[in-house]
Amino acid sequence: MPSHNLATIEIDELEIIGYSVAGEETVVAIPKLDVCFDIGKAPDQFISINHVLLTHGHMDHSAGFAYYLSQRNFCGQSAGTILTPKNLLAPMRQIIDAWSRLDGNRIPAKLVGVTAGDEYPIKPNLFARVFPTKHCRGSVGYSVIEKRKKLKPEYAGLTGRQIVELKKQGIEIDNPLEIPIVTYIGDTQYVDYSQLNYIVESKILIAECTFYEDEHTTRAEAGKHMHIDEFATLLSKLQNEHIIVTHTTQRTSMREIRRILKNAMPKDKYDRITLLMAKDAI
Ligand SMILES: [Zn+2]
Ligand SMILES: [Zn+2]
Repeated sequence: MPSHNLATIEIDELEIIGYSVAGEETVVAIPKLDVCFDIGKAPDQFISINHVLLTHGHMDHSAGFAYYLSQRNFCGQSAGTILTPKNLLAPMRQIIDAWSRLDGNRIPAKLVGVTAGDEYPIKPNLFARVFPTKHCRGSVGYSVIEKRKKLKPEYAGLTGRQIVELKKQGIEIDNPLEIPIVTYIGDTQYVDYSQLNYIVESKILIAECTFYEDEHTTRAEAGKHMHIDEFATLLSKLQNEHIIVTHTTQRTSMREIRRILKNAMPKDKYDRITLLMAKDAI
């Protein structure tokens, strides 16, 4: 019996599965890429995913990390890898130690401390790049980027044999190419990401937009979250094909959120937006 009733969004060959309600729980996984952004309360369905990319230490995003690690051990899987802001490493290790003592079993863990600008390999030709967010000390977001090679234009007309010959001579015939597949922003106040091309061009953007009503702007400021007006500004600078909205407040109904979103966005942007929890909430 799965622990969670998760929402699923299909985009081409990728399934994006998750649960996200502000203050309650946020966890979003893309099994095919073998990544889980934040871990929420560690849904059973995500225990076998090998990489957890943690954005910050707030309980609604990180509460389940020790359970995730311990369940993997219990099921005979290798230790899960958790990328986490560097400043959280020490308290996370203390929590793992405390749970190991409570449980009576050592909990194997692979914790990797990250700061903005770091890269971490997920699979051959796939890596996570870390960027800053403005939410709490050390908070970060992640882009998952595919690395490909593209033949340099000057070699475009060559036959296979000629290419093999050039390679034998040690000549570099390819240019590296980066394809940003998905960007997960996590909790943050507004940040102008227009200078970060891999975010601007990421095929899929998963971003928080917590507050929608005019009288909630001060709440957004206080909690360092995005309000719909800021979210509209952010999207106006980005070119993502698909936009998934997470971390919606429970103070506004999903029907109302959808209405306000529609009014706040140009049609071509609104048409690209999916609310992660819409299915269950209406
Ligand atoms: Zn949150
Ligand atoms: Zn938070």
